[in-house]
Amino acid sequence: MSTPIILTELNEPGLERLAQEVAFWLVPGDLLLLDGDLGAGKTTFARALIRALSGDDALEVPSPTFTLVQTYDTRRFTLAHFDLYRLEDPSELVELGLDQALQRGAAVIEWPSRAAAQLPPERIALTITESTSIDHRHVALTASRDIASRLARFADIRRFAERNGWGSPDTRLSYLQGDASARRYARLEKPNGARAILMDAPRQPDGPPIRDGKPYSRIAHLAEDVRPFVAISHALRASGFSTPEIFAHDLD
Ligand code: ATP
Ligand code: MG
Repeated sequence: MSTPIILTELNEPGLERLAQEVAFWLVPGDLLLLDGDLGAGKTTFARALIRALSGDDALEVPSPTFTLVQTYDTRRFTLAHFDLYRLEDPSELVELGLDQALQRGAAVIEWPSRAAAQLPPERIALTITESTSIDHRHVALTASRDIASRLARFADIRRFAERNGWGSPDTRLSYLQGDASARRYARLEKPNGARAILMDAPRQPDGPPIRDGKPYSRIAHLAEDVRPFVAISHALRASGFSTPEIFAHDLD
């Protein structure tokens, strides 16, 4: 598992905002384990995650304590929400259909310790622990090796948003349907109505040389990172054209 990312003293809106950020990078096939004692906030987190994926703040998300699993066809993909607290035997997990759930979409599991040996090794683990204040929690996030780079990217984006004043618990982050590129977008919205678009544009590695020793990206003049976007936007603005204002950027 990767080195944990530790987030301290999150209030309830802070935990919900974290769920919105996780919703931004979760993809079909992901398995998210929610650890923590009774009343830690696992269902609170899962509810915020499912609402974010559904784009519906009022969506009913009951705790699956008795049904053991509840499935949601969200706007993005199907999400299965498991609670294994009442599982009598770990082998029952097969009947509950975790494998199918991961083929159809993503899965989030409360009380994964009840069936630890039955769970696939590729996972993201989120552990919620108590703080000295009753309405705050600490969170530790880790991921298996194949997912670790996505988790590191998430941590970078979180710091970037915080550093630039868009990271507070009451600033909503919602995924926006993007284009066919590797870029991903979210809308950020403050309670005072201020809005921004967050763009995650990973650097495009050069492919193999295909002509005159140059990779396709060079021949087609594709942007390999955000530098050209920022430069052209500034150049257009400086010439008096109207372009979206870049509030903040991180070229690296
Ligand atoms: P269980 O093991 O019974 O399923 P759970 O971990 O799913 O428990 P929740 O059902 O989410 O826990 O309950 C958490 C409770 O703690 C809620 O009533 C929530 O309002 C409250 N709470 C207070 N502060 C926080 C916080 N910072 N983050 C999350 N929940 C909080
Ligand atoms: Mg619960």
